[in-house]
Amino acid sequence: MTVEELLEQARARIRRLSPEEAAADGAQIVDVRSETSRRRDGVVPGSLHVPLTVLQWRLDQMGDRVLVLCDHGYSSSLAAASLVDLGVDAGEVVGGFEAWRAAGLPVVDESPLEGLFPEGLAELHTHLGGSVSSDIMWSLAHEQGIALPTRDFWEFDRMVTVSDPRGVPDLDSLDRIYHLTELIQSSPLAVERSVHSAIGGAYRSQGITTLELRFNPMKRNRGGERDLDHIILAAIRGLDLASLEYPQVRAGLILMMDRTFSAEQNMVIVEKAIRYAPRGVVGVDIAGPRPGGARYDYTAICPHVAAARAAGLGVTIHVGEEGGRHGVEELHEVVDELRPDRIGHGILAAGDVELMAKLRDADITLEICPTSNLLTKALSGEDAVRETFGAFVEHGVPFTIATDGPEMMRTHLRDEFELLLRLGALGRDEAAAANTRGHKSAFA
Ligand SMILES: [Zn+2]
Repeated sequence: MTVEELLEQARARIRRLSPEEAAADGAQIVDVRSETSRRRDGVVPGSLHVPLTVLQWRLDQMGDRVLVLCDHGYSSSLAAASLVDLGVDAGEVVGGFEAWRAAGLPVVDESPLEGLFPEGLAELHTHLGGSVSSDIMWSLAHEQGIALPTRDFWEFDRMVTVSDPRGVPDLDSLDRIYHLTELIQSSPLAVERSVHSAIGGAYRSQGITTLELRFNPMKRNRGGERDLDHIILAAIRGLDLASLEYPQVRAGLILMMDRTFSAEQNMVIVEKAIRYAPRGVVGVDIAGPRPGGARYDYTAICPHVAAARAAGLGVTIHVGEEGGRHGVEELHEVVDELRPDRIGHGILAAGDVELMAKLRDADITLEICPTSNLLTKALSGEDAVRETFGAFVEHGVPFTIATDGPEMMRTHLRDEFELLLRLGALGRDEAAAANTRGHKSAFA
């Protein structure tokens, strides 16, 4: 048999639709063109991209009715016939993508992230206070009868997010936003719902399959009025519920100490983290404003970090986000004295070759949150983003990408990667490596 005869036999067994008919048909268009063609010429909106080599193995993704689309309409005939042989209602778009485009039907650019994250995304740095959508926050506030500063949802939405695209003037302004979300999350009910919705939302909207949520339980017990254990157990219930609904997600909780807290208060948080480690608390962290704006003495939490580590918890530390010279000194101290597994932000290290060597040698992963850093002015602009990532790539500093709180920062993890690719701060391989690093350096 010649290939022409084979083609004729194949075409006799499949549905053959013109591009216009295909567009109106409603069947799933399965695009089997090469990645090069898709990136060069664009894609049909809503089409599914499946390499020809694995077409028959991806039936579960395709739905009941399928129209195969290739470049010119030859390989699609053979591919569709092979699907018909497997019992699928399959056809082809006659003339392929070329005919589709010639007919003036819609074509969009392929997402630059297409195919980059086969294992799903990993988000290791997101604060519970910044991870819950405004509408859920609004309902939670009303359910608890919390007196809000406004009766208008949209005004509230602006209050609990960084709504000005120019960002906030400083970290203290961000702290005031957190203060409101923490107030709303200050009950067992609210904490449970917040954790549950943050995990579900991350998986549904971003395909995040590794997620660590951090929060300070002591900032959610109304100054001691609520019992700390009830707050933490509520978070664990939210985690458990989400793990039943979204078994694909590996999620964990990180309990945060605070730079404004006493050593005793912070030790209580570490003790709680250790106590609930078997239930889903996977690590500890510290954040918060510097008391009096002075350089923070991170050696004050050496015993805390040692206790957490001895109990098998992961350690990540907010440091090197801002603070100029103070910030760089603090980074050195944290790396030398605390030896954390990961560092929240750490972007100031990009200006210090010795520090970058230390981070690389100690295999400490930086959790970098580009949009957050731009909004708080920790990074001055696009050039600073490129320079920072350029330095880390050049010096082999391990890093992963995160949002810091997608709802508050009005971003999503995929947006962060798209931003970095668009700016040329990372290449595709580097972006994929940063995400893989995220899965690998998770505590959960
Ligand atoms: Zn943070």
